[in-house]
Amino acid sequence: MQVKIRTLTPIWTGNENRKCETLRETGILGSLRWWYEALIRGLSRNACDPTSENRCKLDQERFQRAIKEGKSIQEALDEQICQTCQLFGCTGWARKFRLEVEFNTAIPEVWIGTREKRNRGYLKRNVAGLIADKTIILRFIPLREITQNEWALLNKTIQIISDYGALGARTSQGNGVIKIIENNLPYKDENIKKSQLKGDGSNVNLPNLSNFFFYKFHIKFNEDISNLISREVFWTHASDHDGFQDNWENWKKLWNDYHFLPIAFHIRDAIRHLEDNKNKRHEILGELGKGSKVFVSHGYKINNTTAKVRIWGYDVEESIKNKIKKELKNKLKEKLFSKGEYLESCNLTEEKTGKEIMEGV
Ligand SMILES: [Zn+2]
Repeated sequence: MQVKIRTLTPIWTGNENRKCETLRETGILGSLRWWYEALIRGLSRNACDPTSENRCKLDQERFQRAIKEGKSIQEALDEQICQTCQLFGCTGWARKFRLEVEFNTAIPEVWIGTREKRNRGYLKRNVAGLIADKTIILRFIPLREITQNEWALLNKTIQIISDYGALGARTSQGNGVIKIIENNLPYKDENIKKSQLKGDGSNVNLPNLSNFFFYKFHIKFNEDISNLISREVFWTHASDHDGFQDNWENWKKLWNDYHFLPIAFHIRDAIRHLEDNKNKRHEILGELGKGSKVFVSHGYKINNTTAKVRIWGYDVEESIKNKIKKELKNKLKEKLFSKGEYLESCNLTEEKTGKEIMEGV
């Protein structure tokens, strides 16, 4: 029971500010759970927020009593905990599966300074994470019976991540774009049986797939990207950013060996400047990526002059989404380069709403 994937941008499984040198399954599980919750909420069912006080908890005595009274495990669980906790676990109920992932190539780091001073000065943001030379295998080992519907939900979750989103942490800052190469999990072509899902949901302010948008852009340069890196034209730091050191050799490795261009921070900076209102800006982009409702990938290689970028998010106003679609190119021209102008085009090549995705499940 495994899914074979390729990493298009590095996966981050460490903590937000710590190093990410080895893979932590918990980082992958947390992300799978986040998307699974969003899908459940998209189906108008309740999924608790595992970080909140109101998260689910299974009372063992009550559970055992229900089983003795002749209820099925599913029914006994439905009485107490949400659909997501049934598969991913909560206090009193262990996760139904174990996940094994093996791969360990840490990419050489690249740093991008902030464009504006924060309090005392400029900050540095790093591009880092783990990438696979070939493929990675996500192995799912059931520890308890996983229902057909749970497999269907899990398959859909992984498919959405691969098609439109990203896996792991720091997905608002470029990491985690993957592509499924092969999936042999059970019931992968099965539709989700909505009628079997309990718990009508009405949690507000939590990610709900129906409120998502997904864009993909082709960013085309008027010269080979490896030439542009050699000529050091990409913006990396403000001219008065003391002590900043460029590492163009690592930029080259990322593009030549790992086939991605580390421009997620440039794109975030471009989006930041689409919105004039500071509070709104903060609400959609968070502070240094934390609490962001807009997610941005690095540019992954299409060909020698073109990289693809994913931009997606939830609960973002139409006006901002329209600005992203219409004005991204102009803003990127300003934010991508420290000298010259090498952007040929920036075209929206795919657009999908969460609602459209939900119609197909
Ligand atoms: Zn729950």
